Amino acid sequence: MNLRIGQGLDVHAFAPGDHVVLGGVRIPHTHSLAAHSDGDCAIHALCDALLGAAGIGDIGSQFPDSDACWEGADSRDLLRRCMSLLHDGGWRVLNADLTLVAQAPKVAPHVAAMRANLAADLGLDAGAVGIKATTSEGLGFTGRGEGIAALAVVLLTDA
Ligand code: MG
Repeated sequence: MNLRIGQGLDVHAFAPGDHVVLGGVRIPHTHSLAAHSDGDCAIHALCDALLGAAGIGDIGSQFPDSDACWEGADSRDLLRRCMSLLHDGGWRVLNADLTLVAQAPKVAPHVAAMRANLAADLGLDAGAVGIKATTSEGLGFTGRGEGIAALAVVLLTDA
């Protein structure tokens, strides 16, 4: 049995708007996230972790933002496309673990819905999907409320 670990990081800056999308959940906020797609940095970090673990590039190479077909893309659709690429390579996911770094909005009330979304797309039980939220104690770009960062780790198996 082969095991592969992958990690991903994504950051999006705030822009004018009234909601953000994180883990496929629409969360009302004073700003939105600037992006070519829906700006779901949690899913983008997860996609990079999956693609990296499988050794098949990253979200930018698979879904280039120079390609107009990804304009306004639903990131859950990108995630499901990543899973299809993984399955083509004989991989499945054992677990995923994410950390979101944001001063605001408050993420904790939405974690259960995010886990359900990601578990459905990854083909996992919600218990195999970890999502933690933290602030950066007012430090750095997340602390100043300039954007949101997301980190993801995944474990794949070919068994
Ligand atoms: Mg992104």
